[in-house]
Amino acid sequence: MRGALALLLALAAGAAGAAPLMPWPVPGGVARVDLETAQRPEAVRYQGSPVRVSAKPEGGWEAIVGIDLDAEPGRHTLQVDGAERTFRVRAHTYPAQHIEIPDREMVTPPAETLERIRREQRTIRAAYRSRAVAAHPRLDLHHPVAEGQRSSRFGVRRFLNGKPRNPHSGLDLAAPRGTPIEAAEAGRVVARGDYYFNGKTVLIDHGDGLVTMYCHMATIGVEAGERIARGQPIGTVGATGRVTGPHLHWSVVLNGNTVDPELFL
Ligand SMILES: [Zn+2]
Repeated sequence: MRGALALLLALAAGAAGAAPLMPWPVPGGVARVDLETAQRPEAVRYQGSPVRVSAKPEGGWEAIVGIDLDAEPGRHTLQVDGAERTFRVRAHTYPAQHIEIPDREMVTPPAETLERIRREQRTIRAAYRSRAVAAHPRLDLHHPVAEGQRSSRFGVRRFLNGKPRNPHSGLDLAAPRGTPIEAAEAGRVVARGDYYFNGKTVLIDHGDGLVTMYCHMATIGVEAGERIARGQPIGTVGATGRVTGPHLHWSVVLNGNTVDPELFL
């Protein structure tokens, strides 16, 4: 239903140029909030983070707000040049998914790895909030693995070997090991590493609070700090970290919150 609606709107918008991002104001979704002003506001913030502001095709300005997966449904507040604007987050229940992973250390990590995991999570959280690039990126992103199969969708509530774990914070694209991965938009590499859960990983800051993350890679072909073009190969699909088979885990982050990557394709 949602997919069909998105397709219809994309087709309608296609005639007029670039497709606008579908508003989907739920936890893990994106709100488009009309700022009801003719002048571009100086600063729009949500939960303390700067928020992307775009010109509306019909005139005026809107905020494009990434909503955290843990957000409470109800009224949320934007700070707009010292004043407040509210928008409503609707409830949404994502499906549950049960996964069996034979390697117990990947389900419940041994105590001696916890410090490493915490350090890596701090690195990743910092990259989510990177502001290293001054740009107004496109929101219709380049598909990072064109022939990848969508094997696990964003937001699913995961149970590993029966134990509840964090909801899925990205989109899994299954493809053979070695398949090229391409950058979703132009930007700069703000972190790369080989992490306990995420395996070989690249994070790219695109500007305006938009960051994308690529995980479980077999090889990484870019350096930290490197400037990247839209569609540029950055590495290959692999099975490093906590995985059941080769795939790309792709996360899209907007104003610090991971949101549904399918909204951007
Ligand atoms: Zn994943």
